[in-house]
This record gives sequence, structure tokens and C-alpha cells, in this order.
Amino acid sequence: MLATGIILDVDHLFAVPLYDPDRCSIGFHFLHTYPAIAVYVILLSIPKVRTFAWGFLIHMVLDYIACL
Ligand SMILES: [Zn+2]
Repeated sequence: MLATGIILDVDHLFAVPLYDPDRCSIGFHFLHTYPAIAVYVILLSIPKVRTFAWGFLIHMVLDYIACL
């Protein structure tokens, strides 16, 4: 289940530079914007994709913690 969130790291690959420790992923990458996060929350209400939604949200939380 947690591995599903790793899919979201694909959009990290489109970032330039590829890795910047001072950059916060949240709000920077397309799949890490607040509208995208809102979509993941909505997906939680759909049983078929709920496990993916949890994986995505946990990924957001981990990226957010990295920003602190
Ligand atoms: Zn990420």
C-alpha cells in the first residue's frame, strides 16, 4: 500500500534541478499542489481507489515533513 505513493515521485523527475534539499516539494511539483491533495482526499471516499489515495496522502505527509 505504501509503495503506491512512490509513483508520485515521478513528478520529482521533471524538476530542475532534480534534487534540491532546500526546496519544498509541496506546492512545487504538479502532483504535490494543494488542488492535487484535495483530489486525493476526495479519492478516499471511493473504496476501489482508497488504498492508492492513502499511499498518495502519506507521500504528501512525508514530503511535507521534509520541508520542516
Ligand atoms: Zn513527493
